[in-house]
Amino acid sequence: MGTKFIFFTGGVLSSVGKGVAAASIGRLLKARGFDITIQKLDPYLNIDPGTLSPYQHGEVYVLDDGSETDLDLGHYERFCDLRLKKTSTVSSGQVYGEVLNRERRGDYLGGTIQVIPHITGEIKRRVHLLGESSGADIVLIEVGGTVGDIEGQPFLEAIREMRNELPREDSAFVHCTWLPYLRATAELKTKPTQHSVRELRSIGILPDMILPRSDYPVDQDICRKIAQFCDVPVEAVVPMVTADMLYAIPLELEESHVADLLLARLGLKARHEPKLDGWRWMIEELKKDRPVAKVALVGKYVELQDAYLSVREALKHAGLFCDLDIEIDWISSADLPEETVDERLADADAIIVPGGFGTRGIDGKIFAARYAREHQIPFLGICLGMQVMVLEFARNVMGIKEATSAEFDSKAVNPLVDYMPEMKGQERMGGTMRLGLYDVELAEGSLAEKCYRTRHISERHRHRFEVNSAYCEQLEEHGLKVTGQSPDGDVIEVFELEGHPFMIGSQFHPEFLSRPNRPHPLFVGLLQAINKRRGLSTEKLKFGFED
Ligand code: GLN
Repeated sequence: MGTKFIFFTGGVLSSVGKGVAAASIGRLLKARGFDITIQKLDPYLNIDPGTLSPYQHGEVYVLDDGSETDLDLGHYERFCDLRLKKTSTVSSGQVYGEVLNRERRGDYLGGTIQVIPHITGEIKRRVHLLGESSGADIVLIEVGGTVGDIEGQPFLEAIREMRNELPREDSAFVHCTWLPYLRATAELKTKPTQHSVRELRSIGILPDMILPRSDYPVDQDICRKIAQFCDVPVEAVVPMVTADMLYAIPLELEESHVADLLLARLGLKARHEPKLDGWRWMIEELKKDRPVAKVALVGKYVELQDAYLSVREALKHAGLFCDLDIEIDWISSADLPEETVDERLADADAIIVPGGFGTRGIDGKIFAARYAREHQIPFLGICLGMQVMVLEFARNVMGIKEATSAEFDSKAVNPLVDYMPEMKGQERMGGTMRLGLYDVELAEGSLAEKCYRTRHISERHRHRFEVNSAYCEQLEEHGLKVTGQSPDGDVIEVFELEGHPFMIGSQFHPEFLSRPNRPHPLFVGLLQAINKRRGLSTEKLKFGFED
C-alpha cells in the first residue's frame, strides 16, 4: 500500500481547532492499527516560530531534534503519542529559503523562478519526504491559516496538485470551519461555512468531510444544510462542539465514525477493532470529582495561557495519576510586587516558574521562589525558572545581593547564570540556542532519581544561558544541590534544595515529554508532594496506559 494523505484546511476564521481535530483523528487511526504521522504547513514567513513572541503564537514547542515549532505539534505528540522530527514542520520561510538557495547555487540556471511550480514543488517535496522518511501508512497534514489568506495560497495550490497527481484513493480532504451563533434569533449560521467551501472549490479542492466547530449544539438540520450546499454526504458533516475537555474530542469524533468514513474514502479497512480503552478510562477519570489542588504558575505571558500550553497539559496529565483536579492560578510575574507575594501565594498548593526570556517580571519570579523555599511549598522551576531559583538562593541565603544572570545584565559582577561558552559571540537569534534532546545523569539518592526511577534520562532543552559552575561548590555548601548534569559534566541540569519537601529546578523542559498516558515524573513528583503535605496517599492511581 502506498502512503495515504489526509489534508486539513480551515475556513471562516483561525483557531477553530484544526490542530486538535487532526491530532484526534490521528489518534483514532492509530487506534485502528495504522502507523501515522502528522505535519504542519505554516504559511508565515518566519523560518520557524523560535523568534516569535509567545503573545503572537503561543508557546514554542521543541522536538527531540531541536526544531522549534508551532504548539500544534504538541497536540499531535500528546494525542497520538508520537516523537516528531523536523520534517513535520514546514513554513513559507523554509520553503522560500530553500528555493532561493538553490537559485543562488545555479540549480535553475536560465529559468525564471515562480510560485508555481517552484514554491509549490518544494512544498509537495516536503510532504512526500515526510511520508517516505517516516514510513507511515497515513500522513495527516494541517495547513495553517484560513482559506483566502494570501500567504496560504501556494500551500493550497500544492495540495490541490497532490490531489490530482496521486491515485484518487490516496488523498482525503477535511475542512474545519466555524458556525457563528446569532443570539437575537437563537440560531447557528452556515453561510460563512458555505462561502469558505466555495472558496476552496474555486481553487480546485473538494472537501470529503466538513467539521464545523460551534460553541452550541448543532442539530441534524444544520448538517443537512451544510451537506447540501457544500456537496458532501450528510454523514461527512461532523460538528465539533466546543468541549470542556480537549481530550474528549477523539471520543466524540469516534461516535460520529469519522475515522471509518475517512478510511473508506482512502480504500482502507481498520486493521483491528479500535483500541481506545485507556483513552476512555482517562476521560471517565477526568470527569470524576477529584480533590482540587491549586498550582500557582508565575510567568510573564500569563494573559495568554497558550504561552504555557504544554505546562498546563503536563499538570493535567500528572493530576490524573495523582488523583488531583488541578486548578492553575495564572500569576503575572510582572505584577507581583514583594509586599503582595504572601497574600497572592497564600493558597497555592504548589508553585511553578516556567521558562521565559528577558528581564521583565524577573523580580516577581524571584519572590515566588523565595516564598516556596521559605514556606516549604512544592516548587518546580523550569529552565528560566531553575535559573531564578538559583539566583534567589544566592541572593537571600548566600548573601550575594547582586547575584544575577548575564541575560539581565551583560556586565554583571556576579553572573550566577552566564552565557553557555558556545553561545558567546553568537549574534544570530534564530535556532542558535542549545536545543532539543540531551542526556542528563542524575545523582544517586536524589529526589530527581526517585521521581524518574532511573539515573539516566534524556530531556528537551531550549536555552542560551546556564548556571555558572564556578558557584556550584558554594551553592552546594549552603544546601542547593546539583543533582543532574550533562554526561560530560559541563552543563548543570538539575538543582534541588536539601531539607525542602520538593523544590526542584531543571534546565530542560519536562513539559514537552509529558503525555496523557505517560505523565512526566517531575510533574508527578510535584503533585505527590502536595498529596503528602495533605497527608494523603502518594500512590498513583495507575501508572500509564497503552493503547
Ligand atoms: N532565557 C533563559 C536562557 O536562555 C531560559 C530559557 C527558557 O526558559 N527556555 O537560558
